[in-house]
Amino acid sequence: MSKLPEIKPNRLAIKVKSVAERAIRKGHPWVFESAISKQSGEGQAGDLAIIYDGKKNKFLAVGLWDPNSPIRIKVLQSNTPANINEDWFNQKVAQAKAIREPLLKSETNSYRLLFGENDKVPGLICDVYSSVVVVKIYSAIWFPYLKAILPAIVKHTNASAIVLRMSRNLQKPEIESHGLKDGDVLYGTLEKENVIFTEHGLQFYANVIKGHKTGYFLDHRHNRKKVGELAEGKAVLDIFSYAGGFTVHALAGGAKEVISLDISRQAQELAKENVRLNNLDKDKHQIMVADAFKGMQALIDDRKQFDIVVVDPPSFAKSAADIPQATKSYERLTRLAVRLVKKSGILLSASCSSRIKQEEYFELIEAVLDSTGRRFKLIEKTDHDVDHPIGFAEGGYLKSGYYQLD
Ligand code: SAH
Repeated sequence: MSKLPEIKPNRLAIKVKSVAERAIRKGHPWVFESAISKQSGEGQAGDLAIIYDGKKNKFLAVGLWDPNSPIRIKVLQSNTPANINEDWFNQKVAQAKAIREPLLKSETNSYRLLFGENDKVPGLICDVYSSVVVVKIYSAIWFPYLKAILPAIVKHTNASAIVLRMSRNLQKPEIESHGLKDGDVLYGTLEKENVIFTEHGLQFYANVIKGHKTGYFLDHRHNRKKVGELAEGKAVLDIFSYAGGFTVHALAGGAKEVISLDISRQAQELAKENVRLNNLDKDKHQIMVADAFKGMQALIDDRKQFDIVVVDPPSFAKSAADIPQATKSYERLTRLAVRLVKKSGILLSASCSSRIKQEEYFELIEAVLDSTGRRFKLIEKTDHDVDHPIGFAEGGYLKSGYYQLD
């Protein structure tokens, strides 16, 4: 771990408005800039912010100061004081690992070990692909703590390599990144950037250097398994298929035909490789490189219909301002998808927009289904798999509904 910078964070004493105090006591991990009433000095990214209560000046929480975000303090621990050191990180990683143990009893060696705020490490995620670990940071607050958290990650994963990924906002020239860059191998040796891992008995490649997020979307694992279980003898359409996660599970589950639809040629090539990796019948698999809306319209024009249609778009609402447009996109997608579902077929409609709440999403989808005149039966709603635990109201983002259409 020689590359890791030695950065000594400063300490800041902070007071916050009473509404924020109440939220912090209840364990909310975010303190907005506007909630801060007093601060002992100017902070640098990653400085330790010690929050005291307004009346008695007693310890309230410790968090990391983030000058680049309106969420100015990301809380690590509230109500009891803590030294944020290797031991503290070791405890957090151990607790996180324990939650994931049930999943690791299945034929799966890929999982999210740390899920940001939900595992008390705000702005940091850690995904494991077999023996390769990817740490992705979304804020400069983490640079000073990589040295303390990495040994804990190595200990609880037996990693052969740890790769650092950085969000786009951290790759801007004005951000001090202490000599680190996206894709750096911080520990061990990375043999190949395409890492093979297992998900419920099936093999996949994740490109841990160039792939989206950390290389693969682990969050839909449980839904992919379910689609595999439903797929026997079925024609399946996998829209926004990326590396073909749903596609591979469907083919392995005995689907008679699967079409993967995605705008990215690179993703589609990976999907084909994933089909090959599992020795599945490539003649049953077709790819369509197209914009989803146009591709779906083309399939409708060809009078194609499927027993299972999976719709798993990228996040449409990254900020509150995007919500109206996102709502329209979900409506349009659903209207198109319905026309592609055979009688008694299943529509799996998923959303990863954290700004759109679960109830709102299902209401929106069901209103569209109603408006199409097709009767539908809700089979199941799912949220997060065990490796994406939800620790606070805003921590959840994924929702999926299985609808059987008349
Ligand atoms: N279902 C996948 C994950 C989907 S991620 C899984 O289970 O792993 C979202 C995908 O949507 C990405 O692969 C991206 O290339 C694709 N995408 C984004 N915009 C698109 C568009 N307009 N049309 C088709 N695909 C699009």
